[in-house]
Amino acid sequence: MAIVAGGAGFLGSHLCTRLIDDGYRVHAVDDFHTGLAGNLDHLADHPDFVLMDHDIRQPLPRIGGVTEVYNLACPASPPHYQDQPIRTATTSVVGTLNLLELAHDLGARFLMTSTSEIYGDPEVHPQPESYRGCVNTIGPRACYDEGKRMAESLCYDFVRQYQTDVRVARVFNTYGPRMRLDDGRIVSNFVAQALTGRKLTIYGTGRQTRSFCYVDDLIEGLVRLMRVNPRPEGPVNIGNPEEHTIIEMAHLIGRLTGREISLTHDPLPADDPRRRRPDITLARRLLGWQPTVPRRTGGAATSAWFAGQMDNAGGTPP
Ligand code: UDP
Repeated sequence: MAIVAGGAGFLGSHLCTRLIDDGYRVHAVDDFHTGLAGNLDHLADHPDFVLMDHDIRQPLPRIGGVTEVYNLACPASPPHYQDQPIRTATTSVVGTLNLLELAHDLGARFLMTSTSEIYGDPEVHPQPESYRGCVNTIGPRACYDEGKRMAESLCYDFVRQYQTDVRVARVFNTYGPRMRLDDGRIVSNFVAQALTGRKLTIYGTGRQTRSFCYVDDLIEGLVRLMRVNPRPEGPVNIGNPEEHTIIEMAHLIGRLTGREISLTHDPLPADDPRRRRPDITLARRLLGWQPTVPRRTGGAATSAWFAGQMDNAGGTPP
């Protein structure tokens, strides 16, 4: 049996589905701050699925029979996590502490979804796990970056102090169905803008880069990391090393949606990382994992998802 904290979120809901498909009993936990109950509608009547409305900043009830605890609970989109920064920081720090204590108490494995954001605006490219990062500790992104960094520290404190079986994934940019239409990140913004014939908003020059992993590949990486023996000693990057500039992303999304696009430039947000690309040597070696879903397949599924969301919203852009 597994607990999935953040189970109603974009990644969490895909993980719940995967674990149910694998025959697990799944206890999803979410406070619905950014997660959506609708993401789990397809599991609502499943006999092995439970959804609990709970904020992980509060201690969790002891749930017997749990062997795996996944922590995916935290807003991950910059506008969302910066909207209530104290809540974001404490969700990562206090929330992770509560989940680690639960895992320790239950003798369960614990998997933390950390983030590529812990590398900040990196001076090393691509980023291997050994790179310690370049984060502005007092900037607007710090609530997320430093919250996740502290969560990583707590994970390895539990290893040192209690020998808890802890695994840490550093998740890079991910895309796919069940992203919120109002997510505020590049993929949802660009697809919604393309589908409604608006200009795509390029922040800054658009020469900054990101590397995007399809959600199914990402979930496969997380599951492998949870199940691998022995436990990797440190964090493992999970992401797609295929790197694109933001301008390239705009044209890619134009092609995927089949729309003519035009661009407009908005100011670059503070501390926006200039480049990001995972070194996945460790994931390849320890987990036998690498992304396999072609960009065209992932892009088509994502574009279809957003088109459906737009129809449901009566064609209204976010
Ligand atoms: N970005 C952009 N236009 C948008 C949204 C994002 O140019 O409408 C840029 C943003 O400045 C950043 C990159 O796209 O350089 C990825 O931003 P996102 O918010 O998706 O995630 P991040 O990787 O920064 O957490």
